[in-house]
Amino acid sequence: MVELASLKPQKSCNVFDLAEQAGFDVGDWIASSTDKRGHKANPKYCYEWSFTEPGKVVIFNLWYQNMLHENGLIKQRGNFRADAASHRGPNGKTQWRTRATRLDNALQAALIGNLPIRVIVVDGKQRDKTDPNKSTEASKVRKRELDPEPWTLTAYDMATGKFELTRGILDQEFVDQFDMDQLAKSGPKKIETSSSAYYRDPKVRKAVLRRANGMCELCGAKGFEMAGGAVYLETHHVIPLADRGDDDVFNVAALCPNDHRRAHYAQRKDDIQQELLALLRQLRISNERLRQRVVNSD
Ligand SMILES: [Zn+2]
Repeated sequence: MVELASLKPQKSCNVFDLAEQAGFDVGDWIASSTDKRGHKANPKYCYEWSFTEPGKVVIFNLWYQNMLHENGLIKQRGNFRADAASHRGPNGKTQWRTRATRLDNALQAALIGNLPIRVIVVDGKQRDKTDPNKSTEASKVRKRELDPEPWTLTAYDMATGKFELTRGILDQEFVDQFDMDQLAKSGPKKIETSSSAYYRDPKVRKAVLRRANGMCELCGAKGFEMAGGAVYLETHHVIPLADRGDDDVFNVAALCPNDHRRAHYAQRKDDIQQELLALLRQLRISNERLRQRVVNSD
């Protein structure tokens, strides 16, 4: 079990170095620099709360003070969309609203686009949001370090922006039929199923299950809870792999078992396929829009 205290940053590393280390392309950070202290102090980047490299990685700056230790896991919960909304109004700070919105968009981009998540843990004097006299005083970061472990977006509510990030790669919260096949195969009886004929990237299946957040993407019903508490849904390639459908998150839907069978055998299976294709097309469009929004452009 990892102690929360081991995450407390001890060094005051440069954001530039940490972002670069985590896989963010710092080319524009250098190219757009106008600060005489050099590109590492580029104000376009160095005060940002998140960095998104489309198709590659999302980096979040998270306060050590806001992390929790729960059931052996390190988590952070919050809502940057609500945070952004709180910066509207007469005393609101535009740049904080922009940064909070960008962070909320980056969470969505990570979820929809299945991007790895890295965290820069920051420590120092955090802005006091509760005291109206001090709530416009900026936070002061004194220490920051890149967490060597990747994180997982374990919950995100598209409607409200509420999120939960958990340290580590967490896959067991949501399971599908292939996880169950794995379990069956590791037991004494070997079970061969036709569904294992094509290779399916487990990362894609897991990303789709996380995106669905336990609800069938066709009917909205919650998948059933298994004995260990994980939620079960089935992953379905909308254009079958046999028909050269892609094994990516924009061709896979998470469905309740009943809808999954319907997608294969129902009289109106073609309608179901069209409905799912429309849903995935919409997600692809959202993903493209997010790509535009999350890049640090102003
Ligand atoms: Zn369903």
